Amino acid sequence: MDLDTVRELGPWSAHGWRDGDAWLAGGTWLFSEPQPAVRRLVDLTEMGWASLRQLADGSLEIGATCTVAELSAYPHPLFLPCCRAFLASFKIWNVATVGGNLCAALPAGPMISLCAALEGRCLLLAQDGGRRVVPVSDFVRGAGRTVLGEGELLRSITLPAHALRRRSAMRQASLYELGRSAALVIGTRDPAGGATTVTVTASTVRPFQLGFPGLPGREELAEAIERTVPPSGWFSDVHGLPRWRRHMTHRLAEQVRRELSEPT
Ligand SMILES: Cc1cc2nc3c(=O)[nH]c(=O)nc-3n(C[C@H](O)[C@H](O)[C@H](O)COP(=O)(O)OP(=O)(O)OC[C@H]3O[C@@H](n4cnc5c(N)ncnc54)[C@H](O)[C@@H]3O)c2cc1C
Repeated sequence: MDLDTVRELGPWSAHGWRDGDAWLAGGTWLFSEPQPAVRRLVDLTEMGWASLRQLADGSLEIGATCTVAELSAYPHPLFLPCCRAFLASFKIWNVATVGGNLCAALPAGPMISLCAALEGRCLLLAQDGGRRVVPVSDFVRGAGRTVLGEGELLRSITLPAHALRRRSAMRQASLYELGRSAALVIGTRDPAGGATTVTVTASTVRPFQLGFPGLPGREELAEAIERTVPPSGWFSDVHGLPRWRRHMTHRLAEQVRRELSEPT
């Protein structure tokens, strides 16, 4: 839709952050809703950030402006299925960015699911030059809410090498075929010690992570989900009622647990 309150569009300059400014990445969320408070869009796609950078220690740095299409080509078993978990056409895939997905903070954000499950860390840059690093699982605080301060931006997400090496299993459910994710569960397991992490997203207002020293039993996993996700943590919208989302989360988590228990 037209954002008819917007008067300026430009690159990030030294002029500083003003009231009414908003970062523009792919614009697929920004232009999908009225933004009455926005006067100027500051275009992040002109920053020239590398989309994907393999670092010397084996970790992967994802530039915030990396598109979903670029990410989908990376050879890791979780990347393509998470990109496919987008309720989106190829047009969205080619412009929507990983950073924009995290910052929009929709519960059904599949880049949130992927980056949280792979222990991603967000590099945030403030207007005064301050930098801080926040785990992806803490970056999203609720539906549409992040830890970003006024004018602060997400520069990159780094996935550590050890998380990229872990075995993984993913399950996703939607209320209808090709619908927005109503529950998305990812399990990862350390190939050496067997330590397991289960990340619950889409059914909840923000990511919830459960850690186990080994592979949990069925009951242990179910109890951990109940202990970790508070009753108010289950998300409700037209894509699914909280009770159903909770039920599906338990079901998918058990499927993930079973898959991770099988020999590789
Ligand atoms: C048909 C359709 C289907 C969709 N399906 C889904 C879906 O299944 N799941 C889902 O989660 N979303 C979905 N979306 C919403 C949207 O496309 C995605 O969330 C997308 O990833 C947003 O990325 P973007 O680059 O377009 O962000 P933008 O729209 O440019 O920005 C989103 C928000 O984040 C801020 N922002 C962007 N980048 C940064 C940054 N680096 N630092 C700080 N702030 C930043 C912007 O100011 C804005 O508030 C869908 C949209 C459409 C139109």
